[in-house]
Amino acid sequence: RRTLRCTAISATPLRHILRRHPMNQENLPEPPKHLSTQEFRDHGHALIDWIADYWERVEELPVMSQISPGAIRDQLPADAPEFGEPFQNLIEDLDSVVMPGITHWQHPSWFAFFPANASPPSVLAELVSAGLGVQGMLWSTSPAATEIESHVLDWLVDLLGLPRSWKTTEQGGGVLQMSASDSTHTALVVARHQAAKAGIDPSSMVVYASTQTHSSIQKGATVAGYGQIRLIDVSEKHEMRPDALRRAIEQDRADGLNPVFVAATVGTTGTTGVDPIRAVGEICNEQNLWLHIDAAYAGNAMICPEFRFHQDGLELADSYTFNPHKWMMVNFDCSVFYVADRGPLIDSLSILPPYLKNEASESGAVIDYRDWHVPLGRRFRALKLWWVIRSYGADGLRTMIRYHVALTQQLADRLTADPRFEIVAPHPFALVCFRCTEGDAATTNLIDAVNATGTVAWTGSELDGRPMIRVSIGQRATEERHVDALWALIDQLA
Ligand code: PLP
Repeated sequence: RRTLRCTAISATPLRHILRRHPMNQENLPEPPKHLSTQEFRDHGHALIDWIADYWERVEELPVMSQISPGAIRDQLPADAPEFGEPFQNLIEDLDSVVMPGITHWQHPSWFAFFPANASPPSVLAELVSAGLGVQGMLWSTSPAATEIESHVLDWLVDLLGLPRSWKTTEQGGGVLQMSASDSTHTALVVARHQAAKAGIDPSSMVVYASTQTHSSIQKGATVAGYGQIRLIDVSEKHEMRPDALRRAIEQDRADGLNPVFVAATVGTTGTTGVDPIRAVGEICNEQNLWLHIDAAYAGNAMICPEFRFHQDGLELADSYTFNPHKWMMVNFDCSVFYVADRGPLIDSLSILPPYLKNEASESGAVIDYRDWHVPLGRRFRALKLWWVIRSYGADGLRTMIRYHVALTQQLADRLTADPRFEIVAPHPFALVCFRCTEGDAATTNLIDAVNATGTVAWTGSELDGRPMIRVSIGQRATEERHVDALWALIDQLA
């Protein structure tokens, strides 16, 4: 193996700088002041205690912040401080200023949206990453950041049963991004770039997704400059209808438009519906369209082999995203993006200014993740993913997923057995959606009545133009007793 030097930029010799900027003791400004390392140690230890105490007492707090708009700002001084203040004041303000305005996603009775879990190994890794303060835009700007990321994302290919060819050691590869929206946006940009290179006018390019797709697909298509997005009809299970997709593609071609991109979802936000990947993928293959899979939430469940039939046909996909920051115990932000072939990705996003040139990149032996997404700069996110996987082990993560899915099934059984309620969609993972049989007003009243107790949070939404309730069970600390308490509330307030 060749040894690669990590110097990205050749330093200007110091004597030249000194000649240009003569300085002596008199005109040197005072050096900046910092907290001493001892102060950092003391406050840091106190803050770790503060977080641990928070996790221990969070259950006693109202789940949703109870404040009115502007209440936090009203407590802040109009102007930024001119002089630094004792750090202890800052810690004290956490309780008095910040906490009243926090909605507790780490509350065990968090049943709203999807989970956004923090966990001990993840938070500790986040702290280390901040302390190291590396900027891993190039391999050479911190080789460990890149190599751990590539390696852990290759591990996940096996752990989630994804196609082997998606590994960085093969033709594809994975990269961490901030959010699934960023991952999807990147896929849209690459597909658009490739189509434009083939001479297609972007204003004629069409993106397809189901009516249940996440708003990020629509936003990404707009940002990436597609001509339009076509929302495809769904089945009674709220899953994309391949026949409707084919018809839409054919109609668009007949109208002189250019179909380019299809986004299929494994686990829609509304109901965790699963688009038929194989059937959609076969259409994409036949029509030469880019197939992107949005598995932001449900992708996490694939660590358990029994859920993988939901993603049958993945070998037909060009790109895939899922969020460990939802349901894999990695705190926000951490979204994984895979491509089946990294060639078009790098071809679309690589721009090389002279100050980024370095021997390692030129050797072709390293990955420079700056070429794999829109931002140049990137932090060391992989550390927390690595530590979470090592700390829990795949087995620990499977146990967590299976526990949440079983709790969801238990709640679904109660809802099914009670004539006051109807479940409105299949619940293949850990989200159950239901409404009151008495009518829409009863559903809306129940949504508000349960949220008003402050002891739990869930999400009211709509399906087919009618109100429904989403209960998402996936918070790290949620136990059977919390779901029992939710059921008691439903039973009492319905
Ligand atoms: N896709 C799906 C299916 C989602 O459920 C969500 C968020 O819940 C997203 C995309 C967006 O995720 P992010 O907030 O990471 O952009």
